[in-house]
This record gives sequence, C-alpha cells and structure tokens, in this order.
Amino acid sequence: MTDILENIEGILKDIPDGVKLVAVSKTYPEDRIKLLYNNGYRIFGENKVQEICRKYENLPKDIEWHYIGHLQTNKIKYIAPFVSYIHGVDSIKLLKKINTEATKLNKTIKCMLQLHIAKEESKFGFIEEELNEALVSLNKDEISNIQIVGLMGMATYTDNQTQIRAEFHELKSIFNRLKDKFFIDKPEFKEISMGMSGDYKMAIEEGSTMVRVGSSIFGKRN
Ligand SMILES: *Cc1c(COP(=O)(O)O)cnc(C)c1O
Repeated sequence: MTDILENIEGILKDIPDGVKLVAVSKTYPEDRIKLLYNNGYRIFGENKVQEICRKYENLPKDIEWHYIGHLQTNKIKYIAPFVSYIHGVDSIKLLKKINTEATKLNKTIKCMLQLHIAKEESKFGFIEEELNEALVSLNKDEISNIQIVGLMGMATYTDNQTQIRAEFHELKSIFNRLKDKFFIDKPEFKEISMGMSGDYKMAIEEGSTMVRVGSSIFGKRN
C-alpha cells in the first residue's frame, strides 16, 4: 500500500503549480483513499453514482469529490449535495437539471462541458458547433447555480501519441475560441480537464489544468 504514496508523489513531481491532480479512485477500496487522505491528499474522482455516494458516506467530509463519469439526469440529486466538480457535462438538458438540483440545495456546482475530441463513436460529448449553438441560446437564469469552469475531454484509446497530442491540442484550441466568444468576462472559465495515467504529461504540455489519474497511483484495476 505504501507504494501508492510513492506513486502519487512521483506524479506530483511531473505536475507544475496550477495543474490540479485528481486522484481517480474508482473501483479501489476506501482504505486506499484513506491512506492518501491521511497523508494530506483531498481531491478524488469517481465515475459511478452509487460508488461515489458510498465513499462520501464512509470517508472524511472535507474530501473534494469530482464526478468524472457519464451522469444520468435522474441521478444528479444523489451526488449534488456533496460534489464540488462535475466533469463531463455532455448535454444542455443535463446542465439545466444540475442547476435545478443545485438551486434546491442553495449551492453552486462547478461544471465542465465535455467535448468529443476522440475519433471514436463511443465517447460522449459535444462537438464545437453544437456547443456554440447551445451557448448562444442558453439563458442566464437556467444556470444561476452553476459555474461553467471549463472543458473536459478524453483522447482516443490508442498508442498513437501523435494522434493523442493532436486531440489535446484541438481541445485547447476549442477552449480558446469559446473563451473569446462566451466567457471573456468569466475568470472562472479557466479549466481544461484532460490527461489520464498514460498521457497526463502530454496533456499538460498541451495546456491541461486538471489531470485525472487513477491506475498510475493506485495500481492496475481489476
Ligand atoms: C478511469 C478514468 C480516468 C483515470 O484513468 P486511469 O487510466 O486509471 O488513470 C480518467 N478519466 C475518466 C473519465 C475515467 O473514467
């Protein structure tokens, strides 16, 4: 178990100030999270509603939870009370429903919009054009309790480093264009959530501000 600490410390050495490391603890037992917690780590990511709720219940309450998975509208209410960030908001309907739940709780939830940058059918997310149209027609009242803090993307599952880099580069370019068009007066729109165990260094070179790293910290998943 102590190698988990060595792993995360090693990764932190690769990460410049200003880039946030989200330790993706999905599938790993709570005692691993506790070990990191006891050594000062507070930022964890999960991708299943049931699992994040259980871990929230059982673990210290000052953990900063990031929901990084696909989210169904009927399940928002379970995570809204305690999540800090929702990465991967992939529809306007979802964004509005998150706002409804956040409003009931009288809190603000930070959201990242997911862009479809991979050359795969299976990945969720907007394409730039859709997002442009959506943001034009989005009413301020519809997101009164949401902070859109940036974009999230996942590269194609491939060994082709050139392709992965190009996809990260594309996400950064889209971020810049959206920033200019819609968020120029919104300093909170500053995050680019990209990079996982295999590609976080490259993601940082291409402008990532949040890396989501699981197996390089916790070991191989079953
Ligand atoms: C699992 C997961 C990660 C972490 O993947 P690793 O390869 O274990 O680092 C990052 N982002 C999302 C959305 C995930 O589901």
